[in-house]
Amino acid sequence: MSVELTGKIAAITGAASGIGLACARRLLAAGATVVLVDRDRQALARLCEPLGAKALPLVVDLADPAALAGMVPRILDMAGPLDIFHANAGSYVGGTVSDGDPDAWDRMLNLNVNAVFRSIHAVLPGMIARRTGDILVTSSVAGVVPVVWEPIYTASKHAVQAFVHTLRRQVIPHGLRVGAILPGPVATALIADWPQEKREAERARGGLIEPEEVAEAVHFMLTRPRNVTIRDLVILPQSTDL
Ligand code: NAD
Repeated sequence: MSVELTGKIAAITGAASGIGLACARRLLAAGATVVLVDRDRQALARLCEPLGAKALPLVVDLADPAALAGMVPRILDMAGPLDIFHANAGSYVGGTVSDGDPDAWDRMLNLNVNAVFRSIHAVLPGMIARRTGDILVTSSVAGVVPVVWEPIYTASKHAVQAFVHTLRRQVIPHGLRVGAILPGPVATALIADWPQEKREAERARGGLIEPEEVAEAVHFMLTRPRNVTIRDLVILPQSTDL
């Protein structure tokens, strides 16, 4: 077992599934204490116990600003001051502008954009006061490439990407690091609505990334020496149509 992150306190949102769960496992294996934040109480309860005493479940519905406002004080009580905050939770709603559902887009934007801004806003004062901390955001290749069949998801990730760029400049003088992870398609529940044949075909031709590969990239970013600026990391599958 590696020990590079021993003594570090991390919180990851959307940690009861997919990329967030893989990242939680990777940071735990590197010795960190990890607060797994998710709205899925049952999944958190089922997952955290086998992960050991350093895996701390925290139920928060990030789409609810009042619940989100309570997140950081609860993390402080449970684990102490945060060294690492990974704003990972997000959802996907497809559909073209003419046939999509605007209410579903609102819900997605609230999670993919507003909750990322609000949670980082809540985390920053503690990190700035301690003059240390790493903030990661799970963006997407859709954060830099306009994916024509998913305009609103693309817009949400472009917003997050622009935020990361400007935030990084703002917080570097305070000793903080900020980075985004931009994966292509990852084999998680987020793409569960893909037909089974499409998933299998994509996997067979190397068009899917496994969540553990994203977690390796996150571990790489977080274990750079502190004087190395974290930048953004694009993770593409072996084969892609993007
Ligand atoms: P996932 O569906 O496997 O996991 C998402 C987690 O977020 C779930 O545990 C869910 O319960 C939680 N969640 C959803 N709404 C929440 C809320 N309101 N409050 C708290 N928790 C909530 O998805 P994933 O693929 O692991 O996605 C994680 C991130 O990765 C997202 O930001 C997504 O946009 C991004 N991403 C995914 C892919 C992909 O192809 N899977 C590609 C690029 C980027």
